[in-house]
Amino acid sequence: MQISYKKFHTLISFAVFFGITATSFLGCKPKKGQFSGENAHQHVQELVNFGPRIPGSQAIENARLYIEEKLQEFGWFTVRQSFNDDTPNGSMKFINLRARFSMVTGNGIDWKDGEEILLLCSHYDTKIIKGVEFLGANDGGSSTGVLLELARVFADDPEIARRVELVFFDGEEALVDFTSTDGLYGSRHYAKFWRSAPINKKPRAAYVLDLVGDKQMRIDPPYDSPSMLLSELYSAAQSLGYRSLFGISSTPITDDHVPLNAAGIPALDVIDSRYISKGKWHTSRDDLNSIAKENLEIVGAVVLELMKKKIKK
Ligand SMILES: [Zn+2]
Repeated sequence: MQISYKKFHTLISFAVFFGITATSFLGCKPKKGQFSGENAHQHVQELVNFGPRIPGSQAIENARLYIEEKLQEFGWFTVRQSFNDDTPNGSMKFINLRARFSMVTGNGIDWKDGEEILLLCSHYDTKIIKGVEFLGANDGGSSTGVLLELARVFADDPEIARRVELVFFDGEEALVDFTSTDGLYGSRHYAKFWRSAPINKKPRAAYVLDLVGDKQMRIDPPYDSPSMLLSELYSAAQSLGYRSLFGISSTPITDDHVPLNAAGIPALDVIDSRYISKGKWHTSRDDLNSIAKENLEIVGAVVLELMKKKIKK
């Protein structure tokens, strides 16, 4: 094959250009084992694009399919936990997602055995608010985005990943108001099994992430958090230089950690509890514009550090 000098020159320029472009893309790619706020934010954006993730809707099913697809892409095995529960709006169907990592095959996973397992949880549904297209970028979106990016990072270290179960709860939000029978549908159902499990088969601990992406994010777990889990969270934050963003709420909080604690699994709610009184909570202002990649990255990095330390203990 013959090519003129000019064509050859052009080809070289293309090769150099694409070479540089490919290298710089590779350079941007998050490093192995490193949490990327950019990636987490991308997941939040995808979830928000599906529209309100109301239990039983097509949008929440699309969100579920997206979560499953990403988890499988990162090497996790997923199962759906479907159930019906009575709500103020009558009987409704909810679906939790569970994911575990195995180097062998999905068939080898004993989903009933929680020994040595840490639970990392997020709800992915959004609240039904009359007259508002409530997208829950922070409420339901941010924590789910962080969990998906953690799934990618954990998979780089199979020894860590196989000690983690990721749980995505449906129906965290109350249809009307939180009562013992309205709200926390997914976590109440999920915790039921562990409640009756023998102590040595229960998961070691659970971390529930909620409201972790606001631009003014600050993590204040509930007042009645298990003290060991709280001090481990602070120490992980300290070691990364983010201790000042982690405090404590002056009250208990109703969230998905409650049924887990009641089932005998020490559970920590990693939540920006002040967000609830800042005016954006459960309003149309909880949109993608209110989310900061940097804060998703801080929470992701701290939770990653926390779980790595806990697993090695
Ligand atoms: Zn909410």
